Amino acid sequence: MRAASPFPDMNKKGPLMIDRSRYDENNPLDMHNLQFDIAAQRLDLEPWIAEKIKHPRREFVVRFPLRRDDGRIELLSGYRVQHNTLRGPAKGGLRYHPNVDLNEVRALAGWMTWKCAVVNIPFGGAKGGVTCDPSTMSQHEIERLTRRYIWELSPIIGPDSDIPAPDVNTNPQVMAWIVDTYSVFKGYTCPSVVTGKPIEIGGSLGRLKATSRGAIFTLREAAKVLNIDLASSTAVIQGYGNVGYHAAQLMEELGVKIIAMSDSKGGILSHKGLNSSEAYEHRQRTGSVSDFREADNITNAELLELPCDILVPAALEGAITRENAAKIEAKVIVEGANGPTSPFADDILYDNGSFVIPDILANAGGVTVSYFEWVQNGQKLFWTEEDVYKRLDKIMKTAFQEVYDISARERVNMRTAAYLLGVGRVAKAKRLRGIFP
Ligand code: GLU
Repeated sequence: MRAASPFPDMNKKGPLMIDRSRYDENNPLDMHNLQFDIAAQRLDLEPWIAEKIKHPRREFVVRFPLRRDDGRIELLSGYRVQHNTLRGPAKGGLRYHPNVDLNEVRALAGWMTWKCAVVNIPFGGAKGGVTCDPSTMSQHEIERLTRRYIWELSPIIGPDSDIPAPDVNTNPQVMAWIVDTYSVFKGYTCPSVVTGKPIEIGGSLGRLKATSRGAIFTLREAAKVLNIDLASSTAVIQGYGNVGYHAAQLMEELGVKIIAMSDSKGGILSHKGLNSSEAYEHRQRTGSVSDFREADNITNAELLELPCDILVPAALEGAITRENAAKIEAKVIVEGANGPTSPFADDILYDNGSFVIPDILANAGGVTVSYFEWVQNGQKLFWTEEDVYKRLDKIMKTAFQEVYDISARERVNMRTAAYLLGVGRVAKAKRLRGIFP
């Protein structure tokens, strides 16, 4: 069931009716749209602006063949959605995952628009993805897939138009193939067509850990306003990829005890505390964090409901829903993933006193350092890691403060406050730019 637009007439301001029963909690796009509608209603946006900026500007769908190592040919579907370009070039990662479809990519692209606006960097929002299962593919196959997919996207991506980056199951090596593929047909090297590159070919120091570092900066700010002593806190991490692993490491540095973590295959728990590096090595060796020594195996569902101070959902959408929200005991939820919590769950968490640092704020450190990388590429300069982190800290701190102030002033949860800030900025850009012709 598609959610009806709550704007009865595009040309008339009227009472905005949001019928929550029409939004499907299992549909990431519906969740994106509901988050947006809640903000648009509070901001009392002109209906035409709301309808314009809620939906993607451009959608690009490609079908292409991949030759597998054994000679078989498979046809794959790929997507790139440019949700918004009002405040700057479209920006956002590329995801390789079996769940990727146009609907999910639209939601993820929208979240990039609001995220870039919340941290006030001059980008719009985009996302791309290929429906595939990289866990069954060789590096050669992933390289061929990447090169062909990027060739297919070449009419719409570029250093000043749309700049991809890593996301789930893509990494600096994949970004290096993108630079190479794009540069080969341009005839000269174009590092700034993509961010999250290896340092050796124009990447930025600090980019690899940037999403986690940004998230931990927001956690530090939350701990201040909530009076939480991080050095005596416990944390649970869902998802042990790039974001989850580096978040664990950074929390350990602050004295936080990591008591549980999980990946797509299952979770582990130890009340004595888990060593993040050893757990990572175990996962690299065996393919999962499960069966780690001196820890008990638990399910992903059990993991989310553990008593703890800090919960970091760093996997996929749909982790916290109306089904499990009431059972979540964490004091602070730091959303490393995009879209892990539904608005229905947000209401329950808010009533129960859990403080959610929403994705479009908490995980904005990744795209912020992507912005730094793009700026450095443009100026042919390299900043030190210290410089990158100092600038990141300042941006995350300011964004947290702005969102927190709105949430206090408007008496809304942190998610709605972040949307009021982000959507408000994009709506302002639309008002200023007007309509062509
Ligand atoms: N994929 C990351 C995100 O969801 C980073 C995007 C970027 O750096 O462009 O924010």
